[in-house]
Amino acid sequence: MSMVLVVDHERRPCAPVHPGRARRLLDRGRAAVYRRYPFTLMVREGEPAEESLPLRMKIDPGSKTTGLAVVNDATGQVLWAAELAHRGQQVKARLDQRRACRRSRRQRHTRYRPPRFLNRRRSSGWLPPSLESRSSNVLTWVERLHRVAPIGARSLELVKFDTQLLQNAEISGIEDQQGELTGYEIRQYLLEKWGRKCAYCKATTVPLQIEHIVPKVRHGSNRVSNLTIACKPCNDAKGTRTAEEFGFPHIQTPARAPLRDAAAVNVTRWALFHRLAAQGLPLETGTGGRTTWNRTTRELPKTHWLDAACVGASTPPQLRVKGTVPLLIMAMGRHSRQRCRTNAVGFPDKAAKATSVVGGFRTGDIVRAVVAASSIKAGVYVGRIAVRATGSCNITTATGTVQGVHVRTCRPLHRSDGYRYQDQKGEAALPPHA
Ligand SMILES: [Zn+2]
Repeated sequence: MSMVLVVDHERRPCAPVHPGRARRLLDRGRAAVYRRYPFTLMVREGEPAEESLPLRMKIDPGSKTTGLAVVNDATGQVLWAAELAHRGQQVKARLDQRRACRRSRRQRHTRYRPPRFLNRRRSSGWLPPSLESRSSNVLTWVERLHRVAPIGARSLELVKFDTQLLQNAEISGIEDQQGELTGYEIRQYLLEKWGRKCAYCKATTVPLQIEHIVPKVRHGSNRVSNLTIACKPCNDAKGTRTAEEFGFPHIQTPARAPLRDAAAVNVTRWALFHRLAAQGLPLETGTGGRTTWNRTTRELPKTHWLDAACVGASTPPQLRVKGTVPLLIMAMGRHSRQRCRTNAVGFPDKAAKATSVVGGFRTGDIVRAVVAASSIKAGVYVGRIAVRATGSCNITTATGTVQGVHVRTCRPLHRSDGYRYQDQKGEAALPPHA
């Protein structure tokens, strides 16, 4: 069950409570809504707040989506979960656009500007902006959770596979390695190495198998350099032929080269590791192979939040996930810094940027608008506001966008915080908060 987070009257995190209990607390006026995302109650002064064992926050960073889970190690219960969608690609596109505008400025016939170069310095720990954005998204949410949940330890998936185990595998073959875990590390490694697609037909959405380039019946070895990833039809069609006989001689070359920049793939994760470690709480790390193994042995489906719950050796033998609904979070950025808006080729042909605050609201605020019965738009709307300078704004509710709702009719529920949320039934079950 997704639990409701609770803080006491001095904003100290308490034990999360069952949604039924949260509803009773709210109905009887013993608690009030403190934050809407993540949904948190504040209990009144004098109310008994429950002590809790420290919980564990678990993180599975990804390039597009990061899974987050708060787990009680003692009971195996997943109390809270989220999937955080990053905007790394969008950051890069924006920077490319800015670069193009500036480049064109230099080409135009203007006064002579001497070229300036090599006049920038990067501080240590600098990350490219798209990676920095991902790393900061995760840190933001770790910190937000710390404020409202009694978190005493953290787990982070640090690498997709354990290179130590793999180096041995590259040298001596799978069978020399003992233990089930190694097989998972190798599978992760091969998936990464072959781009998560069938090496022969390039299919991506089908189940992929580990495949021997020189088949075992032809005395092909189990070394990783003799392994690739193939779909079942290709694997069956190839049969006892080698890849060369099957018509794919070029497969041999990348197979022999070890995955060169496994480290580069993990840059963000390492940056996150250093930043989390600097905060001082116990930090456990795990590999992707371990995560998959944990998830498979606990018979859980593959989702980002369940992967997060399965990170690390501390994962309880039984994970209780029934009724847990992840909060879907999308990183949106916080409006544009561009003062002079340009067309596609960088020519400033638009009006200057309009004000971002209208009637005290910003685009992205979650509001509740009560429009009088006399109006054509009569009704109550709860959703995300997009402000317009006229004051007549758009509200995106769960069912669609309503245009022309005036800011006068709105009350704030949750101020824009750089993220967009997709409510799911776990929170909708609670009474309307307003
Ligand atoms: Zn195939």
